[in-house]
Formats: sequence, structure tokens, C-alpha cells
Amino acid sequence: MQRISHWVGNRVVPGTSGRTGKVFNPATGEQQAEVDLASTAEVDAVVASAKAAFVQWRATNMSRRAEVMFRMRELLDANRKELASILTLEHGKVTSDALGEIARGVENVEFACGVPALLKGGYSEQASSGVDVYSIRQPLGVVAGITPFNFPAMVPMWMFANAIMCGNAFVLKPSEKDPSASMFIADLLRQAGLPDGVFNVVHGDKEAVDRILVHPDVSAVSFVGSTPIAKYVYETGTRNGKRVQALGGAKNHMLVLPDADLDMAADAAVSAAYGSAGERCMAVSVVLAVESVADRLVGKIAERIPNIKVGPGSDPSSEMGPLISREHRDKVAGYVTGAAAEGAKVVVDGTPRAAGEGYFLDPSLIDGVKPGMRCYDDEIFGPVLSVMRVSGYEEGLRTINDNQFGNGTAIFTRDGGVARQFQFDVNVGMVGVNVPIPVPVSYYSFGGWKASLFGDQHMYGPEGVTFYTRTKVVTSRWPDPRTSSVDLGFPQNR
Ligand code: NAD
Repeated sequence: MQRISHWVGNRVVPGTSGRTGKVFNPATGEQQAEVDLASTAEVDAVVASAKAAFVQWRATNMSRRAEVMFRMRELLDANRKELASILTLEHGKVTSDALGEIARGVENVEFACGVPALLKGGYSEQASSGVDVYSIRQPLGVVAGITPFNFPAMVPMWMFANAIMCGNAFVLKPSEKDPSASMFIADLLRQAGLPDGVFNVVHGDKEAVDRILVHPDVSAVSFVGSTPIAKYVYETGTRNGKRVQALGGAKNHMLVLPDADLDMAADAAVSAAYGSAGERCMAVSVVLAVESVADRLVGKIAERIPNIKVGPGSDPSSEMGPLISREHRDKVAGYVTGAAAEGAKVVVDGTPRAAGEGYFLDPSLIDGVKPGMRCYDDEIFGPVLSVMRVSGYEEGLRTINDNQFGNGTAIFTRDGGVARQFQFDVNVGMVGVNVPIPVPVSYYSFGGWKASLFGDQHMYGPEGVTFYTRTKVVTSRWPDPRTSSVDLGFPQNR
């Protein structure tokens, strides 16, 4: 059985806790590896390695740091296919989707190559007589990233690229369900010339996370995962004096107005709901269909579903792979079965597929969904699209704004004025206009509102750089006998 161990000081370090987790191939249901789960003492050792490396790394000049990141970009580019196959094997996503994940992750590495431009401070000459004032940005120290199963390559890239370029040392605690991508990335960083200890991987579960959250030498924590854990990480981390950004779950609504191109809207809804088997935090999970076009739209979505090829991610003809685990597949299927019991109409039932050894589920479509039904109130995180019928723009907007989550949303319309009003009115962090998955490009920042994000800074882009640095303001005077005198008054500008 393959064993996946930690990465410390630029080499593989076997775990010593005696605890391991099982890693499955979701397409077959077979266990294919075991991953070491770190103890508190092992987390301490990883943080100590990062702390030691930080001293040299923060003193390394920016152009040298950028050189490493440029090389990392080239290595990622050259190894896209191999990394994609690792993602498919452990996560289950189809190859095209895995390559898409890598491409969006690499964007963040490319952005990070230019981070020196954002590390510039300000300078005020002659703020007082002979006195200059300037600000500088400095790294925080050891920063940690705790990441979810659904983007095992991209989400770590959201974090470590900027963190490292800002001069921090990084400790990654990836999802224990698909831990191999992080090891592959770690080795690429080593090949890129990153010094020992600047990037580390510690595998683990709650025990490792809990240690990171209270460790006195961890300055900041970036988290992406489900809302209950995001809230826990934010509260525990901040209570222990850490800077924390914790991104949580989602329920993304797509509002389709009567003037929309319904074929385009149906294509978008199907792509955004069932891509990656719905295991995306930006997946569309609810279509808000204005009543006058709802029947036609539901018909167009339903007629597209049978064409989706569900199968192993390694089969080039597959468009949708399995879910991450048997438990999760059965939980998702339960939402579909439960929806019928709650009075919704299951238009397409994908649950019969749930019987096999692989964790496959076919796409499901549920109509007549309402707030209060579990399939609406909970994040399902699977290939299930709900349709809620609304009277018009106002009810659609109210529904979105009343939802506990605020990650992504989209409006489909030909009316630019209404689209502009929507972007003004909606309480959601990322908004698409005829774009169903509006993940910001790397030079903007990613983050939701409400229960989708705890913390003040969104992830990656300019806000990522702000998150991973702190400013220092220097007030400076050089000896000049002409301006020197004893003065016990409060320093004033004169
Ligand atoms: P998860 O919350 O179960 O796990 C995320 C991380 O937290 C993992 O590293 C895991 O080991 C750790 N963890 C799990 N339980 C813990 C506990 N009790 N105490 C401490 N740590 C714990 O999430 P997941 O199932 O891996 O990922 C899916 C979730 O992530 C979905 O809710 C999805 O919406 C969300 N997500 C959000 C975004 C975003 O940007 N907002 C992006 C991707 C995924």
C-alpha cells in the first residue's frame, strides 16, 4: 500500500504518530494509499522547520524570490498532465476539469511573480523639518494554509504563491482525502530552488488543525472548507491572536429573467451545476426561474442532462466523475430522495446510479424547491440542481439576499440596466452577468460574503498580499546640527 508522508525541509518525512487515514480511488471505491496523520508534536516540528527557514527567506531579496516563482511557473506548466492525473486518481474529477483547476491555480503563481510591485511602500519627504516618513510591508512569519478536498492543487496555489513571495514560510495542511497533489507541488517548489523549510506539508485531521490554530509561532491561517469548520477556525485562530481568513460553503443562485437567452442559460446552468459533479464552491445549485419562462427553462435543462457522460475521470470521454466518498455520495442522494418527500418535484433522478462500488451519482434536477426544504437550506455539494420559481426580479433578489450564504451568484438577462441594478443590490461577494461561475481572475481577489467567509480579507490577488504582510511606518531624521535642539514638548510637525 502506497504511503503518503509529510514534507518538511524539502524532503519526505515519515509520520511517527501511528495514526493514518485511508485514501480511496473514488472511481472504483478501492483504497489506494494511506496518509500519515500528524500528532501535535509533529505539527510542532514542522512549524519549527518553517520558523528557522523564515529567517533567511525574509532576508532573500525580492528578485531572487521572484526567480524561484518564475521557475515554479515553468515547472507547473511542464507537469500539468502529471498533476492532472494525480487529481483524477484521488479526487475523481475528469482530466479536462483537472487541467482547468491547474490552469486557474497557475494564474496565481503568475500573479505572485509580480508581487514585488505590490510590496512598495509610501514615502513622505519633509513631513517635518528634516524628517521623512515612510511605510514598508513586511512578512508575518510562519503562515499556514488548511485546504479542502475539492481543489487539491488550485486552493493551495491561491495561498502559498503570494505568501512565499511576500517573504513568509508556509505550512500546508491539505485535505486528508486527496493529499498527493500537495506533495507533487512541494517537490516542484524544491526543484524551482525554494530553500529548505520555506514550504512544508503536514498531513492530518482535526488534531493537526487544532495545533496549528493555537501554535504560538503561527502568525496567520488561511482556510478554505465548509462553513461550520471555517467559523470554528476563524474563532479559534483569532482567539489565539492569529490573523485568519476562513472561506466557507456556498449556495449559489442563478437568476434567469424572461428576456434571457434560454438556451444559453440552460447550457450555463447544466455546465455550472454538474461540472466537477457539483463539488465546487462556485457551482450553481439553485436556478431562480421567473415563472413565465420556468417551464421552458426546466425543459431545456432536463433535455440536456441525458447527454452528460458520467464515468471514470481517466476516461477521456467522461464529462463528470464520481463524488469524493461513499458517505458523501449517499448523503447527496439523500437530499434528492428527501426533496420528493418534502413536496418538490424530482424531474431527473440521478440516485439509482448510487448503487455501485465507485462513488458515482448521475445528475439530478429538482423543481418546485422552496426555502425550508432541506435540499434548499443546506449546501448539497453534489450533482443536484434545484429550481425555484419566482415572480420576477424583486423576489429573485430577495431570495438570494435572504440566503445564509453569499459566495457567488449570476444573473441571466439581455437588459444591461437590470444587470447593473443587480450588481448594486445583491449581497454576494462574486457576481456573474451571463457568466455562471464568476471566479475572479488572479489580479482580483476571491471571497464571498455572509456565511461564506469569516475574516476581513478575501483570498489571493491584492487582498492576498495585504493578508500576508503587515505595514511598518518609519519616521526618520538624519543628524543635522541646524535642526537639533532639546524640546520636551509633544513632537509636532513644524
Ligand atoms: P471540510 O470543512 O470538511 O475540510 C476542510 C479542511 O478542514 C480539511 O483540511 C480538513 O482536514 C479540515 N477539517 C475537517 N473537519 C475538521 C474539524 N472538525 N476540525 C478541524 N479541521 C477540520 O471541507 P471539505 O469537505 O474538504 O470541502 C468542501 C467544502 O469546502 C464545501 O463546503 C465547499 O463549499 C467548501 N469550499 C469553499 C470554497 C470557497 O472558496 N468558499 C472553495 C472550495 C471549497
